[in-house]
Amino acid sequence: MTSELYEVYAIRYGHHDRHARENFIGGDPHDGPQPLDYFVWAMVGAERTLLLDTGFDPAMGEKRQRRITKPIAEGLQAIGIMPDRIETIIVSHLHYDHTGNYDLFPNARYHLQDCEMAYATGRCMCHPHLRIPFEAEDVVAMVRKVFAGRVTFHDGTDEIVPGITVHRIGGHSRGLQCVCVNTRRGQVVLASDTSHLYAHFEQGRVFPITYNVGEVLEGYATLKRLASSPAHIIPGHDPLVLARYPAARNGLEGWVVRLDVEPKNG
Ligand SMILES: [Zn+2]
Ligand SMILES: [Zn+2]
Repeated sequence: MTSELYEVYAIRYGHHDRHARENFIGGDPHDGPQPLDYFVWAMVGAERTLLLDTGFDPAMGEKRQRRITKPIAEGLQAIGIMPDRIETIIVSHLHYDHTGNYDLFPNARYHLQDCEMAYATGRCMCHPHLRIPFEAEDVVAMVRKVFAGRVTFHDGTDEIVPGITVHRIGGHSRGLQCVCVNTRRGQVVLASDTSHLYAHFEQGRVFPITYNVGEVLEGYATLKRLASSPAHIIPGHDPLVLARYPAARNGLEGWVVRLDVEPKNG
């Protein structure tokens, strides 16, 4: 019996111009522009559609000085997904750029690692340095979903539905998880912030916002073990994803790309 196959899409919603030195502990010897893109990811099967992460909204973009390129609802609708119909959302971690827009998904159940909630509500948030990437309102919104019966917790590796599993990696945030999806191309790993850029997992480098450097580096081995090949690993913030994968359909170039097909250059 074969597991269900999913189509996988990266939907870009935001952008931030910055220098390469800002993306690596220890800086970058060839410092130059290295912008970050912001994405959510949709997994579309015959029976169901799942979403990985929910991005930030325009107000948060303004506060954090990140540009919204297209609102997330528009990106989803461009491939025929109605946000209010989504029933399953995996949250990789609780950083502001992965867990906003909570009113867009009134019918969704959220899947989160135990230790991410513990981290985002516990003693580490007493330290200004560690709470920089978190927003109190986002964390409170997730607590409210717990009390509304809309959160399922996971501890380590777990199956969300047949063909889609989550894996705790930690590192960048204590309860950060990646997602492994069964596709016609093989096992695609949506790394989210376990590897912001290709350069991180390919070169063993580390993004500056980090709870545990050892877990970041060990996590790269986990990504490679889970994925059918290194080319099946999709970093969380790399503009190259849009260049390497084909548009989901004509007119969506640079916005929504298809990840369950081979990259454009082989
Ligand atoms: Zn993050
Ligand atoms: Zn992020």
